[in-house]
Amino acid sequence: MALWKGSTYKAKIREEPGWTKQTIKDFAQAGYNKIKDRFTGGAVLVAALWIHGDGCYIVSKPRGDAMVDFMFANRLTAPAWNSYNEERTDPDLEDRFHAEDGACFYVENRLPLSGKVPAGGNYEEISGGIRPFIAIYGKYRSSDKEGFKPPCGGGNADPPCTLEMSWLHIDYN
Ligand SMILES: [Zn+2]
Repeated sequence: MALWKGSTYKAKIREEPGWTKQTIKDFAQAGYNKIKDRFTGGAVLVAALWIHGDGCYIVSKPRGDAMVDFMFANRLTAPAWNSYNEERTDPDLEDRFHAEDGACFYVENRLPLSGKVPAGGNYEEISGGIRPFIAIYGKYRSSDKEGFKPPCGGGNADPPCTLEMSWLHIDYN
């Protein structure tokens, strides 16, 4: 845990004309390349979430007590995401918050989007009526080959990120 303390990465890039899904994938990979050398073990993953007409929110897997405790304490400030994520009951909060969760939390907290999506809602309405797109790049463990990863489909989180993304109307891959 200490390895990651204070090391969660986040950035917002304002949308520019001509963006495609590849642009978002490039942001995820570039974010990973920025932080990969900080860590010597464990999962290193970066999610890039495109809200159409606004920009791209880039966040690494939340790590360290500071970031994880902050997200937990402030989860109600991201009511749409939280209404789905709160079904997870992992006692270790680091296991509960994946890179995708960090990106969603950031979207709902960041102006001009903060407070715009109610519990049980989805992100299409803050994305110009177009489903947002998320790309995830990195590796699950030290021995893993780095690359684009789909949201988790089960095993270490219930509900998994694939379901959270589906409920929030976020496309991936
Ligand atoms: Zn996940």
